Amino acid sequence: MSERTPTVGRFAPSPTGLLHFGSLVTAVASYCFAKSEGGTWQIRMEDLDTPRNIPGAAEAILHQLEYLGLHWDGAVVYQSSRLEFYAATLKYLIDTERVYRCICTRRQIRAGALHHGPAGPVYSGRCRFMRYSPETRGSWRIFAEHTEVMFQDLLYGHLEQNLAHDVGDYILKRADDIFAYQFATPLDDAAQGITQVIRGADLLDSTPRQIYLLRTLDKQVPEFGHIPLALDQQGNKISKSSQSLRRIDAQHPLPFGTPDLFKVLEFLGQDPPQELRQYNPVELVEWAVDNFTPAKLPLNNAVVNCHAL
Ligand code: GLU
Repeated sequence: MSERTPTVGRFAPSPTGLLHFGSLVTAVASYCFAKSEGGTWQIRMEDLDTPRNIPGAAEAILHQLEYLGLHWDGAVVYQSSRLEFYAATLKYLIDTERVYRCICTRRQIRAGALHHGPAGPVYSGRCRFMRYSPETRGSWRIFAEHTEVMFQDLLYGHLEQNLAHDVGDYILKRADDIFAYQFATPLDDAAQGITQVIRGADLLDSTPRQIYLLRTLDKQVPEFGHIPLALDQQGNKISKSSQSLRRIDAQHPLPFGTPDLFKVLEFLGQDPPQELRQYNPVELVEWAVDNFTPAKLPLNNAVVNCHAL
């Protein structure tokens, strides 16, 4: 019998606001998956998109996780401290001609789009074979091939996407010099030895791009599971933006910003017994790990009552 490598899960919040009900759903799900398999669970702060970062949010998120009993393993990884690593990887892709400089504006991209895919306008490839001088400003795009990228999602089963057709050549480094989410996140998953990525279903169509990059770089591809989204009364994904204008007091983010964990477990279909309502968050999380049943996870997005978040 071959031994399974221990699960290494992760939660990768962007410090653009406090954790809300929706982000806690993915935090708890990824924690329960990893811990119920006897694995470890790491935290990575995805703080590259500096214009969107909110001062104090990273510390506040860590306070929230601690308060909720979601204890992480090892040191927190901050993407902002890994710029040299991303730059070196991009240089390798440039040297091996897997990426090219693109100077198209948003308007040109829209106007020239081949069609509209799940991730927006599919880039025409206009800059593919231009030879711009090294000083030319612009983004870096990877050549997307016409092959099906397939994976087995832990919740949704077999999924596949033809990158060239559905997404087109996609950006690894933005024109404003910020490394793109589609680049930094899979690189870090591989570098941290993450074996299991559990995250929101809004990122489902990002997964083939991340798998493709990892394969291009000959890196290990983790397993993926996407959790349905918690929606507000209007049917929109609950986002941090409603809180982002508030000032966050990193030392005292609680009790504001402590979503109802019992409700999170209900959302995750885990049927917590009513008496657990009296439990404190740490006890609730312990119960959730001990009783975690992936087969009970929902497959559809659902509206939650937001005033109790
Ligand atoms: N940083 C992303 C977010 O907060 C999540 C990235 C991921 O889980 O891959 O939406």
